[in-house]
This record gives sequence, C-alpha cells and structure tokens, in this order.
Amino acid sequence: MLTSIVGTNWGDEGKGRMVDLLSRDYDIVVRYQGGNNAGHTVVNDRGRFILNLLPSGILRPETANVLGPGMVVDPEHLTKETAALREGGIDITPAHLVLSSRAVLCMPYHRLLDQLEEDRLGDRKFGSTRRGISPVYADKYMKKTLRMGDLLHPESLREKVEGIVEWKNLTVEKGYGHSPVGVDETMAWLEEYAMPFAPYVRDTTVFLRNAINEGKSVLFEAQLGALRDVDYGIVPYTSASTTLASYAPIGAGIPFAKLDQAIGIMKAYSSCVGEGPFTCELFGEAGDALREAGGEYGAATGRPRRVGGFDVVASRYGVLMQGCTSLALTKLDVLSYLEQIPVCVAYELNGQRTEEFPSSIDDLNAAKPVYEYLPGFRCDISGARRLEDLPKAAVDYIRYLEKAVGCPIRYVSVGPEREAYIQLF
Ligand code: GDP
Repeated sequence: MLTSIVGTNWGDEGKGRMVDLLSRDYDIVVRYQGGNNAGHTVVNDRGRFILNLLPSGILRPETANVLGPGMVVDPEHLTKETAALREGGIDITPAHLVLSSRAVLCMPYHRLLDQLEEDRLGDRKFGSTRRGISPVYADKYMKKTLRMGDLLHPESLREKVEGIVEWKNLTVEKGYGHSPVGVDETMAWLEEYAMPFAPYVRDTTVFLRNAINEGKSVLFEAQLGALRDVDYGIVPYTSASTTLASYAPIGAGIPFAKLDQAIGIMKAYSSCVGEGPFTCELFGEAGDALREAGGEYGAATGRPRRVGGFDVVASRYGVLMQGCTSLALTKLDVLSYLEQIPVCVAYELNGQRTEEFPSSIDDLNAAKPVYEYLPGFRCDISGARRLEDLPKAAVDYIRYLEKAVGCPIRYVSVGPEREAYIQLF
C-alpha cells in the first residue's frame, strides 16, 4: 500500500498528528519535498515533539524513515532536531533513518540569501521563513548545489565547494554588498554538521524499491498544503517545492511507483501563515477568538497565524489538485465555542459570485468572501470516539463539508492526542 498524506489548504492542517496516527499501519514513512520551513507538532504518550525535517514516523521505533531526493536538508537544523528528539528519549540510528544521496544540502549561504532578500524587500516581503528554502531550490535548478551523496566523496568536496562559493559570492558580495562566503568556513560547517550524517546516506531508490518488492507499505508525508505548491498555489506566496500528492513518488525517489491513495488533511476552519491573499480571513474579535481557540501560532516560527472560517472555494480546489481519495477533518473540537459556524461558500470577484479558485494573484487580491453560517454545536466534543457521540450539528457540519468539497471524510480529529479521533468508515 502506497499512501500519500497531504494538506488541502495553506498548510498547518494537522498533518503531523494524522501521520503520527496512521504511520502505525506502515512500515516506512517518507518526506518527499521541502525542508525545515514548516513544522509538525505531534503529541503522543512519549511527549510533545516538533518535527521540521524528520518524518513523523521517527516517533515509532519500528518504522523506517526516509528523507527523499525531493527534499532540501539543512544538516545544522537536522543536528538540533535529532538532539532534541534524543533528549526526549527517541532513538535515532541509520537503522531507521535514511537520507537520500540525491537530497540537496541547504547551506548557511542559502539562509543568508533568504534573509538578505526579505530585508531588501522590506514591506513587500513574501513572509519567507528565512530558512533558505527558495534560494536552495533555485540553486538546485541551476545545478549548483551539494547533494547528500557528496558527503560520501570527501576527496572532491572542497573542489565542489570552491566552485559554488565563487559563484555564490557574485550575488552575496557583489549583489547584496554583504561580506563574502568563505570556503574554509563552509568546509568547517560541513565537517561539524553534515559529515556526522554520512552513515545515514543511502540510495533511497534502491532502499524503497527493495522494500516495495518485499511487500512493505509506504506512507508519503507532505509538508505545507496545495495552496503553497510552487505551480498550482498562490504564486508567489508559495513554497519553492511541489506540495502535491502526485509528486510523492518522484520526490521519494521511486518515480515508477503509483499511489494507491491520497489522504487529504483538511482543517475544520482556515489558517494561513505569512503574507499574501487569504480571502476568507476573519478580523477583530471573531478572528482573535478563533486563533485563541485553535492555538494558531506557527510551529516553525511561533508567528500568530491568520485565521478564517472554512473556505469551500479554496478547499474544493485543494482537494482536487491533491487528487484526494479520502479526507481527515482536523480540529473540529476547536469550533465548539461558536453559536454559528462561519463558512466562506463563494468569492465575489468584479461584482460576480464565483466558486472557482482564481489562478491570478490580482484576482485573488480582489476577491471578497461570501460568508454563510451553519448552526454551532456548543458543547465539548473532545471525548467523542464514534460518530454517534457527536451532536447533530457537528455531524451535519461534517456532511456539509464532504458534499461541498466532493470527497468523503474518513477521519475526524477532535483533539491533539493520538487517540482523539473518530473513524467514519
Ligand atoms: P501540520 O504542520 O499540518 O502538522 O500542522 P500543525 O503543526 O500546525 O498542527 C496542528 C496543531 O493542532 C498542533 O498543535 C496539533 O497538536 C494540534 N491538533 C491537531 N489536531 C487537532 C485536533 O483535532 N484538535 C485540536 N484541538 N488540536 C489539534
């Protein structure tokens, strides 16, 4: 069984928590795109963990975890993330963590360039996490990066670094007027943070092909959501990577494989980190109350998130682009406080009502939300474990959303804990 778990919206849909839950049925969990620019928060019997780079399966000792070729890996961050997990009692060894030899290294100069560019833009900034993700993906397409496999060839590493650093300094020094990147400091950084991971580096294509041939099941874990996809998202307020389910086999290193299912993670309301159009945004008291109820502060950055009611237009588009075969609806319990549940059912654009998600940034900037209200359920549902345990208004809301986005909801999560969920079929 090859399953992809993806976000249907702007990210932060609660994917980490669902992967943590579902990974028990899989032998291997693979991250296949992005870097440490987003975070999953996972709460289970072993504690509360924030994962930026590592697949959520890392919290289960019997699960193998892979960082695929589609990823960009900052080994300094990986060093800190693995250290924090080890402090929490999680064992991390090459026996259950495999880093693709094709994955690209996110370097200190990528972080630097991300910061320099956001600072240069000032008020026009994109809201980057400043972790170097766009610069490193740009360099990947320029074919001027180091890959994890280069760590296995230390004899030619310095020569590769010299070539790249010379080219980088055309931008860092001559472009931004910053002090140049040094070859020695870059080599020292690689020695300190990257080299210790050399024993974890393998050809993940071989690893996964063999595993699939042996009948092992694989869960592909995406970061961010459909609306952050570099091609189909809210360009330019997107990530630099492909966040869609259909990229999973490619980014994982097994482009010949076909997914059996794509489970979309969809939140019972909307949230968005950073800049850019967010049509369904709620402001003032309504927004503050929802943000507080949902604890909507970034896992990677701590930034307060923008919030809104469930956005039918954006979610239906996201579910379609992900090719979802079923959905997990998360954080339904957060809406318990509401008398009436706000739902953005359409956009108004140039005086016309539309239910299609606009592809142009200008149309998205101009779009106004059309809100309707559904009855609230006004009671604590965090203890519900079967559909019958939910009040009618909550069931009606679930059925309404299924119909609105055109995909069955299989799981409903009603709390952050591993077992706080209902399985509908
Ligand atoms: P991700 O990047 O998609 O995994 O999203 P986040 O890291 O933002 O995770 C969502 C946050 O909500 C985390 O703090 C989770 O522990 C929490 N969470 C996940 N599912 C639920 C839920 O059903 N109810 C509540 N109240 N919290 C949840």
